[in-house]
Formats: sequence, structure tokens, C-alpha cells
Amino acid sequence: MKALVHTAPLQFDLRDVPQPQPGEDEVLVRVKACGICGSDVHGYTGSTGRRIPPIIMGHEAAGVVEAVGRNVRDLAAGDRITFDSTVYCNQCPACRQGRMNLCQNRKVLGVSTPAFRRDGAMAEYVVVPWWITHRLPDAVSFEEAALIEPAAVSLHAARITPIEVNDVVAVVGAGQIGLFAMQAARVKGAGIVIALDVKEERLKLARQLGADVTINPAASDVAAEMRRAVGRPDADVVLEAVGTETSVRLAMDLTTLGGNLTLIGNVTPRIQVNLQDIVSRELTIRGSCAIAGEYRACLDLMASGRIQAKPLISRIVPLAEGQAAFDALHRGEPGLVKIVLRP
Ligand SMILES: [Zn+2]
Ligand SMILES: [Zn+2]
Repeated sequence: MKALVHTAPLQFDLRDVPQPQPGEDEVLVRVKACGICGSDVHGYTGSTGRRIPPIIMGHEAAGVVEAVGRNVRDLAAGDRITFDSTVYCNQCPACRQGRMNLCQNRKVLGVSTPAFRRDGAMAEYVVVPWWITHRLPDAVSFEEAALIEPAAVSLHAARITPIEVNDVVAVVGAGQIGLFAMQAARVKGAGIVIALDVKEERLKLARQLGADVTINPAASDVAAEMRRAVGRPDADVVLEAVGTETSVRLAMDLTTLGGNLTLIGNVTPRIQVNLQDIVSRELTIRGSCAIAGEYRACLDLMASGRIQAKPLISRIVPLAEGQAAFDALHRGEPGLVKIVLRP
């Protein structure tokens, strides 16, 4: 089969590799669409240590069941499916509590570290265990389904955050996670949703997807803009979807006294923040990692249009153009949010 193999920092090679065979608990999927994640783009530079070559990347995908192992009961060739990015074990204490994102034996599709390597979906075929698969509603296309993973990451973050009906919710970062987090906050009952980003084109997309207020922190006084919009300088709840020192500090400043801040982004491993800002203002800060059972809800919300993915798709290109697509994302080409590869 053809696969886009990451061979060295900044390099891909579209080459023939042996087609994977499904084990007895696995499903062989003919990949129809696979999104390029921000973590893939960081990974291909070699800076994160989580895409050690050679590796076939791709953890945001959808396709058609081609064959199933002998223990697989309720899936058959021809079924349209998507699957979790986390290959969790389904047996450890965390998995048994439904917290699969915290599975102690987890591997991530399309990721290789010194501890594990699991080929992903930037290829014609991929194998996954049956328990991480989800059937697609008819109303959700393969390309939209390739965005279910980041959408579900955002839905998970909103779900574990105490958002009360009519709360003011600020989302820092209007990249794909932020744009989905905004929509997820609305599903949970947020009254006013504020999106913040330094790129105007992203704020435009945020407004298109339902943000009530957009603020560019590089171009305006955030506290003044907040006062103008909601009558106070802060929000009840803040979702942080960037993960740099500047963005986390902004998110903390935006969180009201005693408020809740959920961190999703983690681009910069170490940052400095003022401890007194957390303690004396009694902020509740929590991390949100991956997805723990939100796939089904997310698929239904996408099918009904309450979470929209289409406006985030900037380009759909064949696998052969994978290298160019990664390079464009790495250069930060204007207007690009999501590129979906079609094997
Ligand atoms: Zn991802
Ligand atoms: Zn587990």
C-alpha cells in the first residue's frame, strides 16, 4: 500500500509499505480522510521527540472497514467509521472507569516515542482495535469525520469544565481546538462566547462559527474590550487552546475571581506564571487531555449541525501532496486552519 512515511526531520517519502493485517481484535480500515494535526506539524520538525522516524503519522481519520479480526462482532466490511486517536488498552483501572484518555498502557496512533511506536492513518490502510471505533452518522462526511478528533478534544475540555448556564466563556486561541471549544462551550449553555486570537482571519472564522465577541490581544486592550462587551474585564470560565507563556498569562488574567480555567494547549513545555495570581484570586486551573468517551456525542452534534467542522477545512489534498501540505502549515501560510489528506 502507499503510505506517507516521515523519514527524517521535515521530510516525508510517499512509498510502498506492506499492508497491515488485522489481529484478532483489530479492524482493517481503508482510510478515506486523515487530518494533519498541529502536533504532527510540530512533530515533523523533530522538536517534540514524539514522531521519531520512520513513522506513518495520522490520528484524525475516518474510512471504511475493509476486514475484521475473528473477535470483532458488530462491524463488517463496508461500514463507515472513525476511531479514537488513543489506542487504549480497555483493561486497566483507568479504562474500566471510562477514563481512557488516562490509560496507563495507551499508545497514540501515528506517534512514536522512545517508549512506543504505532503507525497512523496517513496511508491507504490502518489497523485499530475494534473498541476504539465509532460508526459514522450518514450526515457526516469522511472529511468532516477527520475533524471529529480535535472536536472531541474540545468537547472533553468543555465537559470537564464547570460551565453554568449563561456564563461568559472566553476561549484563548482560535485555531482548530479553540474554534471547536467555542462551539462546545455553547452546547454546554454558555451565554456569551468570546474568542481571542492574534490572527484576524481566525477571528473572522470564530465569528462565522458563532462567537459573540472577538478580541485581538496584539491589537487592542483586552480588559477594555471585555468591559465594552460584557461590562467587566473578565470571564466566568476560560478555555486555553494555545499553550504558550503569553497565552496562559492572558487566560489567567481573563479568569474572574474564583473562576475556572481549563488548559488544553501545551506547545511550550515550561512556563512561568505568578503563583499569587492563582492563590490569592482562588483560580481553579485544570488540564484537559484528549478524549474520554465524547466521540458519540460529538458525532451526533456534528450530524445535527450544532458543532460545525466544514468551515475549518482549508484544503483537501491527495496523500502525494502531504509534504507540501506540512510545509505550508509549518510556514504558517495565511488562511490555513485544517488540511485533510485523502489517501
Ligand atoms: Zn491531534
Ligand atoms: Zn487502559
